[in-house]
This record gives sequence, C-alpha cells and structure tokens, in this order.
Amino acid sequence: MRDTLLGLSWHQIMLWACIFFGSLYWGMGALNQLITHHLMPALGHGRTLDPRPLGPGQQAREQTQSALSVLLFGVGSVVPWSFLQWGWARLAVNPSGWQIALEVAVLVVWNEVHFYANHWLLHTRWLRRFHLLHHRSVVVTPWSTYCFHPVEALMLGNVLLLPMLLHDFSVWALLSVPVFSIVFNNIGHSNFDFLPDADRDRWWLNGARRHHLHHACYHGNFGFMFPFMDRLFGTALPPDAAQAQIARHGRKP
Ligand SMILES: [Zn+2]
Ligand SMILES: [Zn+2]
Repeated sequence: MRDTLLGLSWHQIMLWACIFFGSLYWGMGALNQLITHHLMPALGHGRTLDPRPLGPGQQAREQTQSALSVLLFGVGSVVPWSFLQWGWARLAVNPSGWQIALEVAVLVVWNEVHFYANHWLLHTRWLRRFHLLHHRSVVVTPWSTYCFHPVEALMLGNVLLLPMLLHDFSVWALLSVPVFSIVFNNIGHSNFDFLPDADRDRWWLNGARRHHLHHACYHGNFGFMFPFMDRLFGTALPPDAAQAQIARHGRKP
C-alpha cells in the first residue's frame, strides 16, 4: 500500500482521493439514514433528538455543498502527498499492528484538539461568516457532515499536515483519519439519541446529543466526538440547553 501510494502521479492521487472522500460521505450518510430511520425504529430503540422540521431544500443544499468539500479534500490531498514526494514527511516501513493502533489513538486525540481549536476560531467574529453556512442546518442530518464553506473545509482538512511533519506515520493510520472522522461526524449529525437512558455526557455515542445541542444553541459544545476539550475549556452545554427552543416549536399551532 505504501509503495502503491508513493508511486501514484499527482492527478491519480487527486482522483482516487475524490472517490475515497465521496464514497465515505455518501456511503456513511446512507448507512446513517438506514440505521436511524429504519433499523433503530424497528428495534424500538433510541429516539429523534430534535423533532423540528428541516429547512426548505435543506438536504439537497447540504449534499451540493458537501460535493464541493469532497472535491476540495480530494484535490487538497495532493498537499500531504507532495510532503512525501519532497521528503518533508515519510511513511513508516513495515509498521507493527501495535504501532498502527497507537498511531490511530494519537490521531484520534489530535483530531479532537485540532477540530476544537479550528471550530472555536470559526465562532469568533472574524471567521464566523465562513461557518454560518454549516449552521444553516439548525436541525442536523447525515448530509450536514461535509457541508462547509471552502475556508472551513481548508481549515479542518489540514489536520494531518502537522503530525506528518513530526512523525513517520504508517499509511494505515493516516488513512484511518478520514474514516473515523466520517463515522464520528455521522454520529454527531445523526439527530438521533442512541443511548437515551445512559448518562448524557459520558458516553462517546452521546456525541450525537452534544453536537445536536451545538446546532440548536449555536454557542458551546465545540468538540467533535468526545467531551474532554469542552470540559477543559468550560464550553460544555448543559444536557437540557435546547429544551426551551424545541418546546416553543411544539407549542406552535
Ligand atoms: Zn459551530
Ligand atoms: Zn455540525
């Protein structure tokens, strides 16, 4: 895999990366809908978090905007690939299973820190104009996952560059980042409470609840999948933060 990747030309890497990101986005989005709209209701488990209706044309808009992000991520993957070609970064040769597992764990934590920092910046008054597009989805759907302004896509999409300059990662650990990101991102944008009876903040599956609250309230809960960054910086929202908005909608005739 390592040699195959290094042997590709720049236009091949862009094409394969576009196919990779597109498959992740539409594949995981469809799987998410299957689980939350069909499987879970059939099993009688879980519940919708925000019952308010979607905005007009919301899912089509989210997918069109996400297609642009897929293109940007695909074309942008020529940057880490160029780092490898120029010798600025290297890929591990024959990494052990333990090395790959440890690298993935480190990248999961780094991804949280990187996302939190960039997301917090996107909520400052200088950058929020680039983030409001993502927040047009007040009630989230699986198609919101890549629905970014190009500036936001570039900010979030550079997550691998710094780690690659600091350490020779295995190709599998690097490829795992878009994969676990889209899984976490789908949970966050599922609008579905997978663990309605569990402690509301402790479990990682409750990333769905935390990110739903972020979209419903706008301020607070800037983390991606795990709550540790919001707890560290005091930006965690209380579990009932969106109750008033949702109840207000329920009272409308
Ligand atoms: Zn936000
Ligand atoms: Zn979101």
